[in-house]
Amino acid sequence: MTPGAEVRDWLFYGGSSALDFVNTLRDRATTPRETLPDAESLARWFSAAGIEGWTDTTSQPPTPAEHQAALALRDAIDAVLAPGRTPTGEHVMLVNEHARRAPLRELRLDDPTTVVVAGSGTAAGSGTGAALGALAQAAIEVIAAGELPWVKICAHTRCGLRYLDRSRGRRRQWCSMERCGNRAKAARHARRGLDTGA
Ligand SMILES: [Zn+2]
Repeated sequence: MTPGAEVRDWLFYGGSSALDFVNTLRDRATTPRETLPDAESLARWFSAAGIEGWTDTTSQPPTPAEHQAALALRDAIDAVLAPGRTPTGEHVMLVNEHARRAPLRELRLDDPTTVVVAGSGTAAGSGTGAALGALAQAAIEVIAAGELPWVKICAHTRCGLRYLDRSRGRRRQWCSMERCGNRAKAARHARRGLDTGA
């Protein structure tokens, strides 16, 4: 998914599919709001996010149990990546267990500059297990790439979105300037207006 994209209620500002997944629980800073309330919405999110291992044509819809497993993995990924949280052994094991089911990547035979998922397009290489595996693997990749210190939480008091700060100087404060940066700026201006009686 293109960074900064928005589909339905889903924001793709994370800079990693693992963080985009975490951000499907919106408004974490105040009253968390669930945007994956059922198995069907999870399937739609996999599709919108373009998660490796998920193909609309061959993947079986998630079962209610897989939906529950997905929400547990989402919390474990957040515990592992989010600043200020300390993961338990259970969180770490959950991420590792799912990561083992991540689809295998390989180079395309007729175009070795392109990476494809082995067995994609077949029922064996796709499904909820593979998609959750890819998300767990993406979480591990953030740490493997040395990017854990750049996982941040949006500074807006009502937001709580997680994102990877890849800006130069690493001084990004907002999930997005358009969303929260401007909201904060407008609030500051309004306060200043009140102070001066303008
Ligand atoms: Zn924000």
